[in-house]
Amino acid sequence: MRPRLIAGNWKMHKTISEAKSFVRDFLTIFQPQQGIEVVMAPPFIALPAVHHALQSTPIQLAAQNLFGKDEGAFTGEISAPMLQDLGCTYVIIGHSERRQHFKETNELINQKIQAALGHGLQPIFCVGERLEEREAGRTESVISNQIIEGLREVSSEQMKTITIAYEPVWAIGTGRAATPDQAAEVHTHIRSTIAGKWGIAQDGLRILYGGSVTAENAGEFFQSSQINGALVGKACLNPESFARIASLAP
Ligand code: PEP
Repeated sequence: MRPRLIAGNWKMHKTISEAKSFVRDFLTIFQPQQGIEVVMAPPFIALPAVHHALQSTPIQLAAQNLFGKDEGAFTGEISAPMLQDLGCTYVIIGHSERRQHFKETNELINQKIQAALGHGLQPIFCVGERLEEREAGRTESVISNQIIEGLREVSSEQMKTITIAYEPVWAIGTGRAATPDQAAEVHTHIRSTIAGKWGIAQDGLRILYGGSVTAENAGEFFQSSQINGALVGKACLNPESFARIASLAP
């Protein structure tokens, strides 16, 4: 069984100085616990400062994105070797905001997955259905497709290093979280899809829930054995609420 994981996706928030003061405040209240991994994903520009501030702590660093090639004429992009050199251990891939605003396809997401895995970065791979897809009864097929295409040519060994984040698009940033039962139902589907195709034990998979997780509702999600942690957006921007969510995970 992999440890639970609580990851904070800062999105496009916080300057470098705000990032430093956030980490300072967070470390005064955060209590590390056995069996819980905590990950922070600040914007690219704040990665070095946050890496430095986290150096003597167990908290790990993630990037929010990467490009699917190692180097070359790709103005404005950031590669897996660059992130690895910066001290990142995780990278978020396939977030719905990137699928929606930056038109990332499953094929492009697969290139990013391959690039990350090729450089020892552990993907936090996001999947999730839009509201109209849920209402049309297509949740499971949409998610299966995201998994099959997004994780194409990933080996069973590599699959053990991937964390899946189930993030229903209608729950992200809306204040309307899925219920723990809704999340657990989709997690069960993800687990059987992956176990079936990659032949790995269902309890070898780590699946997070994301979508309007707060310090108030996180505990209910963590009661489900299907839910192995959370990907947190808005509520991770406040040191008290992020520390509180992490404290509820055991
Ligand atoms: C996210 O960005 O992955 C997310 C889940 O955001 P929020 O917690 O704000 O819904």
